Amino acid sequence: VDLPPGEAALVARRQAALGPAYRLFYDSPLHLVRGEGVWLYDAAGKAYLDTYNNVASVGHCHPQVVAAMAAQAGVFASHTRYLHDGVLNYAERLLATMPSALGHAMFTCTGSEANDLALRIARAATGGMGVIVTENAYHGVTLSVAEFSPSLGAGVPLGAHVRTVPAPDAAKLGPDVGAGFAAAVQAAIDDLLRHGIKPCALIVDTVFSSDGVFADPAGFLAPAVAAIRAAGGLFIADEVQPGFGRTGAGMWGFARHGVVPDMVSLGKPMGNGYPVAGLVLRPEVIAEFGAKARYFNTFGGNAVAMATAGAVLDVIEQEGLIANSRDVGAVFADGLRGLAKDHACLGELRAVGLFLGQDIVTDGAPDAALAGRIVNGLRAAGVLISATGPVGHVLKIRPPLVFSRAHVALFLERLDGVLRRL
Ligand code: PMP
Repeated sequence: VDLPPGEAALVARRQAALGPAYRLFYDSPLHLVRGEGVWLYDAAGKAYLDTYNNVASVGHCHPQVVAAMAAQAGVFASHTRYLHDGVLNYAERLLATMPSALGHAMFTCTGSEANDLALRIARAATGGMGVIVTENAYHGVTLSVAEFSPSLGAGVPLGAHVRTVPAPDAAKLGPDVGAGFAAAVQAAIDDLLRHGIKPCALIVDTVFSSDGVFADPAGFLAPAVAAIRAAGGLFIADEVQPGFGRTGAGMWGFARHGVVPDMVSLGKPMGNGYPVAGLVLRPEVIAEFGAKARYFNTFGGNAVAMATAGAVLDVIEQEGLIANSRDVGAVFADGLRGLAKDHACLGELRAVGLFLGQDIVTDGAPDAALAGRIVNGLRAAGVLISATGPVGHVLKIRPPLVFSRAHVALFLERLDGVLRRL
């Protein structure tokens, strides 16, 4: 792709300064300079409807969140080895959103660190090493977490203690997804044991984002959770994607399944862009780890992070964003199903709240190349989304939770235009 000279220069500077491991979105990379609500603006002033970024969950640069962050930064900005109300106020508030069995909150800066900490705690609690994840899961970047993030691809080997199970997809597991998924988890447990590896944890993203969005039927996770517990392992819910109201059914994705996890990892939308993440857990699972190890994370739980995260909770409540996610998400799903009548490439749609996975197919078969053309076509039309799933044929639609019905209408109009042109 021929880039405008300004963008080409930035790409060259990135390659020189950041090295070869970074990847840009889009054939023609986007140079963004400003965000507000559901809108992002490029260097030329063009507006893009953000239908992708779940970190800015309450809207880009929400004034109330920015004000709380700035106010705390101007007063006290240090860490958790001093007594400070901020971390306690936030921890108590966060715990109040969870089932009462989950009694402690610990703070990190990223979701990867939260999952890494969860794994350390699970190893101490169970004496096991074996980890079970879905085939295309992503749980983060640290050495131990990358070892159980198969979506990183063949270039990043899985650990010898890691087993994968299919996504909870009726097409793969049969109509009883709960029984099929539990059977797959049991087979993974059996295989670990056969190799002399004691199971430690089943960890899943409770909406299975990188597998292509699999949220239904609610409740399907329960038998798999029972299976890992019967084998002496723990259940870790990775709520980095579904958490903080995205599913439109309460704050947490696991709740839709009627299960109470042993640990819950949190991140992305927690600080609306400020790096704050964490782990919530049952007190009994950390007894062993707490007796032996000391936990300190320089920036995790710092006063600014906690003030920012508290403001995010305020906005979710004040603006009714969980109900908005449910209601606007339903309108969005209906609209996409309507559009599918005119466009045969829109295959199965899976959606929960404002998280939608739209399969792109040609003659019924997954078509990742076409999905890529749609993503790039929408970018040219001023709308941001991405693609996910094992082969990349699932449109990943995941806007800030302040998305409105009017934004849905605009999205559908532009998608219709792009599909007609392709
Ligand atoms: N878990 C899931 C499900 C994620 O989607 C991500 C990030 N994409 C992570 C963990 C890792 O979070 P972070 O990038 O903050 O380390």
